[in-house]
Amino acid sequence: MVGGMIVTRFAPSPTGYLHLGHAYAALYAAGRGDRFLLRIEDIDRARARPEFEAAIAEDLAWLGLAWETPVLRQSERGAAYAQALARLDDVTYRCTCTRKDIAAAGGAPHGDEGPLYPGTCREAPARPGMPYAVRLNAARAAAKVGPLTFVEHGRTVPVDPLALGDVVLARKEMPAAYHLAVVVDDAHQGVNLVTRGEDLLVATHVQRLLQALLGLREPAYEHHKLILDAQGRKFSKRCSSATLRELRANGVTPAELRRKFEM
Ligand code: GLU
Ligand code: ZN
Repeated sequence: MVGGMIVTRFAPSPTGYLHLGHAYAALYAAGRGDRFLLRIEDIDRARARPEFEAAIAEDLAWLGLAWETPVLRQSERGAAYAQALARLDDVTYRCTCTRKDIAAAGGAPHGDEGPLYPGTCREAPARPGMPYAVRLNAARAAAKVGPLTFVEHGRTVPVDPLALGDVVLARKEMPAAYHLAVVVDDAHQGVNLVTRGEDLLVATHVQRLLQALLGLREPAYEHHKLILDAQGRKFSKRCSSATLRELRANGVTPAELRRKFEM
């Protein structure tokens, strides 16, 4: 990206109102980019709601941010995801396991993400006629592309291709799951600096692997601190007191937020 423009993005899911953590992430991304993009991550049709998408625009404008249009909506990108998924045919497999199956097979616990997938369907063929997810065969994928690195805050970090195991890339009712949609869209939008919370640092390992498999240009990364509540927890969608609309209604200003964030 030497001499070029830095292109960043903010990529919220419209499944609730934006809260303090989102405000920090949006201000961070906009502050780092020469060009700043917005992407609506609404592939989960069961949870995404148009009123939340409208509220995102309203809240970002209140923060004083401006983004390029048109805004990319993941719900409109099904064809691009399907094309990418087809290219991964030799490093994916169908998985018919339910959550219960995975828990029963003793997947290692893995924080918020639930257990790592134990690989049941990797060797044994998936049960016919059942709804299935498409999973990445992470070990085979890693062998195919060889050792990888990514750049985090200017430092080179070796990729651990197995960090999240055999992640889901698509589900029957969804053309793409998070990791696949993100890498396809970051490349499509020309994002060359991905900024996001440090809780997603682990996701970068598998996303870098997908970029290599798909021949996509590699962005640089800056994972930033998370804004936590008084108990040291991430703000959840349920916590209304930290939503930007609630703060705004209580007379908080964007300038006060920036001071609080030390930005
Ligand atoms: N949509 C994701 C979220 O709201 C962010 C994805 C990303 O920044 O890669 O957590
Ligand atoms: Zn399975």
